[in-house]
Amino acid sequence: MEKIKTLIIGSGPAGYTAAIYAARADLNPLLYTGMEPGGQLTTTTEVDNFPGYPKGVDGPTMMVELQQQAERFGTEVRIGHVNRVDFSKEKGGIHSVYVEDSTVIQSQTVIIATGATAKYLGLESEQRLRGGGVSACAVCDGFFYKDQEVAIVGGGDTAAEEATYLANICKKVTMLVRKDHMRASKAMQHRVSRTANIDLRYHTQIEEVLGDQVVEGIRMVNNKTGAKEEIAVTGLFIAIGHEPNTAIFKGQLDMDDMGYLITKGKRTETNLPGVFASGDVQDKEYRQAVTAAGTGCMAALDAERYLQSLE
Ligand code: NDP
Repeated sequence: MEKIKTLIIGSGPAGYTAAIYAARADLNPLLYTGMEPGGQLTTTTEVDNFPGYPKGVDGPTMMVELQQQAERFGTEVRIGHVNRVDFSKEKGGIHSVYVEDSTVIQSQTVIIATGATAKYLGLESEQRLRGGGVSACAVCDGFFYKDQEVAIVGGGDTAAEEATYLANICKKVTMLVRKDHMRASKAMQHRVSRTANIDLRYHTQIEEVLGDQVVEGIRMVNNKTGAKEEIAVTGLFIAIGHEPNTAIFKGQLDMDDMGYLITKGKRTETNLPGVFASGDVQDKEYRQAVTAAGTGCMAALDAERYLQSLE
């Protein structure tokens, strides 16, 4: 059993920024990375909108640099997955956090930065073929489909970014958007429409992923006309958004109907004293690396003030 002042759960921009601030405030933070060290940005290519990178930066590099910055000020970063929490309800109480059932951390403050995870469509054929051609990460798996024909579902920034990424590697990318417009930013939409080998289909959804062991094609349906069409593809990428990683906090922390943690007003406090939330786990609105980093900073400052109030 280890007793500490500040535990940070999660290693995206929110977690590492919280760590930088907490370490510089002498809180000696311990940070557990979770299953996906570096978080969602490790699955992206170029980040062009984070202030201070005029030429852009690739997501994985940015996360390594954020980790190094947190470690420079004394954060201890451990690879590990928190699978249970037992939060105190009392001000000044000690929060117990269980890591892979063998380690128990007792902390005065906990900063939650567990982020969100990719959603899938929920089709039986899609689930059966996950790992057999169905993927939620073009950057991770696109290489396997070099010079082949693939499809991607979604109309947000992620789908647009991944479609253009895949178009560089693959022969053809069919992009399926369920409405008559994309949700992605105008800049990303222009990038998609300028890319010759992206075949953009509006009002289109997947009815079935075809193939026994591996993806061989998809059956699409036009949700306006009802017309069905089968095309041959070897890879299918799902890019339809994310779900907050809050399962282990159910019953202890207040959440909205989508499972996002609820924080108080503009602050990062949850309903329990000494427990703070930052980043995508509490933000379904903005979900940007820079806003996640901003709330990570706020959580560390809130934790520091909370600890001071106990003295
Ligand atoms: P979004 O929630 O923004 O978009 C999800 C997309 O998937 C929408 O087009 C949605 O359609 C569609 N969709 C959802 N469910 C289904 C379904 N069951 N079947 C078919 N389509 C479906 O998620 P993103 O991951 O794209 O982006 C999340 C956030 O991250 C956004 O704020 C985005 O701006 C940001 N981001 C920024 C990047 C950057 O700046 N470089 C890169 C990537 C993301 P509908 O519109 O009909 O609901």
